[in-house]
Amino acid sequence: PKTIGIIGGGQLGQMLALSAKSMGYHVGILDPTPSSPAGQVSDFQIVAAYDDQAALVEFAKKVDVLTYEFENVDLDALNGVAQLTEIPQGTELLRLTRNRLVEKNNLRSLDIPTVNFIEISATTLAENEKEIMQCLPGILKTTTGGYDGHGQRDVNTVADIVAAAELYQDAPAILEQRISFDKEVSVMVTIDGHEDVRIWPVVENIHANHILQTTLAPAQVSDEVKEQVDQIAQVLAQSFNLRGVLGIEMFVTASGKVLVNELAPRPHNSGHYSIEAVNVSQFEGHIRSITGLPIAPLEMPLPAMMHNLLGSQLEIARAQLAQHPEWHFHDYGKAEIRPARKLGHYTVLGAANINKNATWLTDIEE
Ligand code: ATP
Ligand code: MG
Ligand code: MG
Repeated sequence: PKTIGIIGGGQLGQMLALSAKSMGYHVGILDPTPSSPAGQVSDFQIVAAYDDQAALVEFAKKVDVLTYEFENVDLDALNGVAQLTEIPQGTELLRLTRNRLVEKNNLRSLDIPTVNFIEISATTLAENEKEIMQCLPGILKTTTGGYDGHGQRDVNTVADIVAAAELYQDAPAILEQRISFDKEVSVMVTIDGHEDVRIWPVVENIHANHILQTTLAPAQVSDEVKEQVDQIAQVLAQSFNLRGVLGIEMFVTASGKVLVNELAPRPHNSGHYSIEAVNVSQFEGHIRSITGLPIAPLEMPLPAMMHNLLGSQLEIARAQLAQHPEWHFHDYGKAEIRPARKLGHYTVLGAANINKNATWLTDIEE
């Protein structure tokens, strides 16, 4: 069997690895943390930084297919090993999604709606005041490296932007209009080995402090919203000539318009429900797509709900396992436990189990 190499050893890499292993592939991980969540369930791990070119060369030589579980991969380093192994996703997808400004400009060129946005740098601040005003109140975000709301600041005035100069001192930042949306939704899409576009159900996401807390699958949205989401997924999959899974985060406005927030060129936290709820999970779908296998038409027989387990919530949940036979419980086995860090999740299937656990997170916080 082939060996699949995954850059990144977090929980997404772990669930990808488990899926690949169950299909008989060998799996290698490149990650700086020894015994990373993905490394624990794989055949080997190279312990090195993601931008360590020599380590990446060694890794690429050991694997038949190279993929990644996060978008902050060093592009030049990845391009440098393109001759040594197969990279089915290519590097263009990564280039277009790893920088928020490049990503939003690309969406704009595809006529896909987004919130108003503008580039912010120290030198252009004074010139663009009119456009900046149109994006206020807003959220100032660094263009690369952010996740779970890191590198973001709410700004209401130009003075707030001036005061947040550290966000754009090394590289330009992006200012996005802060909108009050009705719902946040997301969808996963891929193209399989027979060139069929496969779109997972659109799901609803509930965030707290900019971190995903709960996913409800399917999202309770109108047919018009579903059509817009499917259309966006189709257009993006085709335009990228997509291999591997793409996660699309979106806002639904009060008037039912869908705006794309950001893209993830990999499996996504809001797709974890698919492990138990869909006939092909996002992880199996990703592995099938990058290895050129077909994916059956996707079916979700029952609705599902996924709760992330952050920080101390993991141990609170573990202590309640005996009372919750309905939980599909996942512990990523992370060595370092920090508040708000994603350490595990659980998924339940069916309306009765969703109701039973609907307030579980708020209950334990009291
Ligand atoms: P992720 O962990 O999803 O990668 P991130 O750090 O890349 O997160 P975003 O997805 O851009 O950050 O923002 C995090 C959350 O903040 C969003 O899911 C949404 O709840 C809120 N948010 C982001 N941008 C906007 C906006 N323009 N208007 C309103 N809310 C927003
Ligand atoms: Mg993000
Ligand atoms: Mg996001």
